[in-house]
Amino acid sequence: MHQTELLVIGGGAAGYFGAVSAAEARPGARVLLLERGPQPLAKVRISGGGRCNVTHSCFEPRALSSRYPRGARPLLAAFARFQPADTVRWFESRGVALKTEADGRMFPTTDQSETIIECLQTAARAGGVDVRLRTGVDALRPLSGGGWEAPLSTGEVVHAKQVLVATGGCKPGGPMSWLAALGHEVVPPVPSLFTFHIEESWVRALAGLAVPQAEVSVPGTSLKEVGPVLFTHWGLSGPGILRLSAWGARDLASADYCFPLRIRWCPTLNAEQIQTLLQATRAAQQGKTVINTPLFGLPSRLWEVLVGLSGITPEVRWNQLPRPGVLALIETLLRTELPVSGKSMNKDEFVTCGGVSLKEVEFKTMQSKLHKGLFFAGEVLDLDGITGGFNFQAAWTTGWLAGRAMAGLAAG
Ligand SMILES: Cc1cc2nc3c(=O)[nH]c(=O)nc-3n(C[C@H](O)[C@H](O)[C@H](O)COP(=O)(O)OP(=O)(O)OC[C@H]3O[C@@H](n4cnc5c(N)ncnc54)[C@H](O)[C@@H]3O)c2cc1C
Repeated sequence: MHQTELLVIGGGAAGYFGAVSAAEARPGARVLLLERGPQPLAKVRISGGGRCNVTHSCFEPRALSSRYPRGARPLLAAFARFQPADTVRWFESRGVALKTEADGRMFPTTDQSETIIECLQTAARAGGVDVRLRTGVDALRPLSGGGWEAPLSTGEVVHAKQVLVATGGCKPGGPMSWLAALGHEVVPPVPSLFTFHIEESWVRALAGLAVPQAEVSVPGTSLKEVGPVLFTHWGLSGPGILRLSAWGARDLASADYCFPLRIRWCPTLNAEQIQTLLQATRAAQQGKTVINTPLFGLPSRLWEVLVGLSGITPEVRWNQLPRPGVLALIETLLRTELPVSGKSMNKDEFVTCGGVSLKEVEFKTMQSKLHKGLFFAGEVLDLDGITGGFNFQAAWTTGWLAGRAMAGLAAG
């Protein structure tokens, strides 16, 4: 039997950050980190296309928390303690400079996720964290005199005063079943951040084309997002679609991913403004064909499709465009509806929503409200952010809070 003070289960972003934060907050503490896989930080390695989108340059806790479809409210208080500015300082103070891209995403200046992995591993070594790979935790039980017992996949048993569960995305069985046995409510998992399947042949024919800004919404719901939309071989993707999928994760799962999608192609203009622009074009471009005069900054191939969807034939010139044609074009620009018939996971970043219910966790310390000495961090919790570095930020913040609190409690 192996004794430790602090046991961290899971060698991902949240587990490493928690272990290092605990070790640094209380030098000399015995911290054991167990990872069931052959490699630690496997998701960090593949994250952000191999570049690791570490965080987002959003330094105001309220604005930051609004990027989390699940967990916004408890995270607001957590971000008041550790937010992206702290993440930047944390890495910079260990020699890792981060840079900000135009859309706010932050990456190591090396553009290599390996830089982040090395930094975390060096910090763990410096803090004396005992990291063991290929060592899964099979169960977790409270000991009658206080503390925890964890039987391992290696046949050993660990006893610990405090435990941080940082086992990542919620899957049926495994950690979720032992946490449920401990009385924790586990919100069933569904995917977040996915792209939409659309069968329409014109959508697939436009694969590769990007629209810099469109409004996508689901009629009959409050789901609405504005952002870049990308045509793919299977339907639609891009940040606008991914954000809509994150906010709609539960509703869209209930609809079995079959729902109507509405697209407004020029989201800053209303019907009147569009009409005024069309009239001005009609006056200026009289003899030109409508199909060959793309407007509103839309790509010409998409414009051709939208003109066709409005019932305007290719030979129609602006001075021949009847009023019903103008109205039909306005309607198409404001409300193109497409049937979504399924989803694909986003290969750059995918997360699950679901996990340990947030109402049973005290967010100042990340300690369970049901069991003293049991802590949570990262994706094991029912919280998730939209794409852009927000999911790692949640892992850093919750890991840091948990690690510091564990160190404090272990000292007491
Ligand atoms: C392809 C991809 C790219 C991504 N890119 C980004 C990005 O650029 N920016 C961003 O913010 N987010 C990104 N994400 C999301 C981000 O990776 C996760 O939100 C984050 O890794 C969650 O960290 P975690 O430590 O909670 O979980 P994980 O990283 O999943 O780590 C959990 C660890 O626990 C281990 N474990 C599980 N059960 C046990 C057990 N019983 N015993 C021992 N160990 C166990 C697992 O093997 C795993 O290593 C990406 C996700 C994917 C899949």
